[in-house]
Amino acid sequence: MKPASFEYHAPSSLDEAVALLAELGEDAKAIAGGQSLAPMLILRLAVFGHLVDLRRVPGLRGIERRDGSVRIGAGTTQAAIGRSAEIARSVPLLARATPLIGHFQIRSRGTIGGSIAHADAAAEYPAVALALDARLEAFSPRGRRTIPAAGFFTGLWSTGLAEDELLTGVTFPARGPRSGFAVEEFARRRGDFALAGAAVAVELDEDARVRRCGIGLFGLGPAVQRAPAAEAAATGAEAAGIDAAEVGRTAVSRLASIPSDLHGSAAYRTRVGAAMVARAWQKAVEEAKGD
Ligand code: FAD
Repeated sequence: MKPASFEYHAPSSLDEAVALLAELGEDAKAIAGGQSLAPMLILRLAVFGHLVDLRRVPGLRGIERRDGSVRIGAGTTQAAIGRSAEIARSVPLLARATPLIGHFQIRSRGTIGGSIAHADAAAEYPAVALALDARLEAFSPRGRRTIPAAGFFTGLWSTGLAEDELLTGVTFPARGPRSGFAVEEFARRRGDFALAGAAVAVELDEDARVRRCGIGLFGLGPAVQRAPAAEAAATGAEAAGIDAAEVGRTAVSRLASIPSDLHGSAAYRTRVGAAMVARAWQKAVEEAKGD
């Protein structure tokens, strides 16, 4: 199939890009790597009269360490993130999630901004952004603002971005001492979207108690989500005394609207999800303890 016809725009500045989106309204869509939007257009799951290509917009790419955090430009490809020594060192959860996204051909075009703005419920980067409390920078004709990841993912393929607003960057806290990270997912074939998965970040205090933890769930609802009950139960507890299987069970115990489709029933995804959380928790805690 071919997409419905559209007018192509290639703005050369961020101001021009958001002005176009504001002027053209709901008939316009930004396109970055095209790895999610192009299939939707080709299958005619989405039709837009105007596409605003972000690839020539300067300043959207790059990885930069800033004091205690790492900022990644929204147009940075998943492949560049996967190759970055800074990301491997400072944001290991993101580095470990990257090879799980599709195949290398997809990662060489797909961008972090596109992945987060697309907000697929089974995507890895949105779950990592949640687990790490990332901050998302947005720009529109009204100016810049920062959105915490916790308030960004609002439902199926929907986010807190306005129609004329673009993501310009994502900032992650850099790894601190006594911290551990793991991402676990189950997919039918390598490169497929996960049926269920979990991204876990754990930080311990000097007494090996959990100072902070973040559990990002994907494939387990209409949107990626945190597991607040499991996080609250673990925070403050001695890491060695926490049963990883119990963390997994608690994390999935209050989920609503778990998908049930050809790939797996809701009950199956729930069991797999609990197992993925448990595995990721175990690995993250072991890393944090330095085992
Ligand atoms: P695009 O497709 O260009 O855009 C996607 C959406 O984001 C559009 O709505 C667009 O308007 C919006 N957008 C893009 N950039 C911005 C911006 N800066 N500001 C605001 N809005 C913006 N993804 C996974 O996470 N895990 C997988 O396992 C996985 N497997 C895949 C397998 C296949 C076969 C394919 C084709 C894709 C797969 N993907 C997977 C999707 C892939 O990761 C996409 O790259 C990513 O979801 C979107 O990034 P993109 O840059 O290509 O965005």
